[in-house]
Amino acid sequence: MSNSRKPLVIGNWKMNLDFVESVHLGQQLGVRLKNRPAEHTEIVVAPPFVDLRSVASIVDSERIPVAVGAQHVNPHENGAHTGEVSISMLQRLGVTWVLVGHSERRALYAMDDDVVAATLRAVVRSGLRAVLCVGEALDVREDEEQDRFVEAQLVHALRGLDPKYHELVTVAYEPIWAIGTGRTASTEQVASMSGHLRRVLGRLLVVESRVLYGGSVNAENAASLVAEGGVDGFLVGGASLKADSFLAIIQACDDCYALMANRRS
Ligand code: PEP
Repeated sequence: MSNSRKPLVIGNWKMNLDFVESVHLGQQLGVRLKNRPAEHTEIVVAPPFVDLRSVASIVDSERIPVAVGAQHVNPHENGAHTGEVSISMLQRLGVTWVLVGHSERRALYAMDDDVVAATLRAVVRSGLRAVLCVGEALDVREDEEQDRFVEAQLVHALRGLDPKYHELVTVAYEPIWAIGTGRTASTEQVASMSGHLRRVLGRLLVVESRVLYGGSVNAENAASLVAEGGVDGFLVGGASLKADSFLAIIQACDDCYALMANRRS
């Protein structure tokens, strides 16, 4: 984890939990965070579109210290895009974060690098925070091409973005072979990629961005990934569906940040 950037943990609920289940999980997080607040870690949950209104309402009414994110958005303002959701619709619901270019959107819903870049631009221009997801498939890793592959995704997505929006961009490194597989990247692999991403971001003058890791993060591996992997937090899928496992990951980030802050002082 970086010396100064506060940790960020985002729960991506994917296509799980109907609105009743979402409210239940939101309430559980609220109660638990009131008893034991995360002192340093910023928390975001990204429920399915149809749950956003319910989750945003309970977060607001019960003052739960989490922000609400969407898993995807269409970059067009409005019009003939059957089944899609616009940025202004999300904003009206109190959404403040959007995942952009998750590997499942790229692989299953034809989201290519151009669409990712257009979506990223539209999201940040509207003032929402974007989590740009990048990551290689297993064959790319086996060919040791991961640095070049991920760099190309990052450069393509950020090309031409007005620097005034850089602060709204967070990058999540999510190797596809680690997502939902139970096969977490090693701390060495994460450290190497987070260093690479920071160098590329520095070259592009995107210096403030947090770099997250995602891919089978759980309560057991979170602390070492944060302490030795050089990331500023996590994008969490499966383990974000239960309050216990999600909060344990948040606590690991919080403890790690406090430890590092102590060492600095
Ligand atoms: C994800 O899909 O963003 C993810 C990281 O999933 P999981 O934690 O289940 O691997």
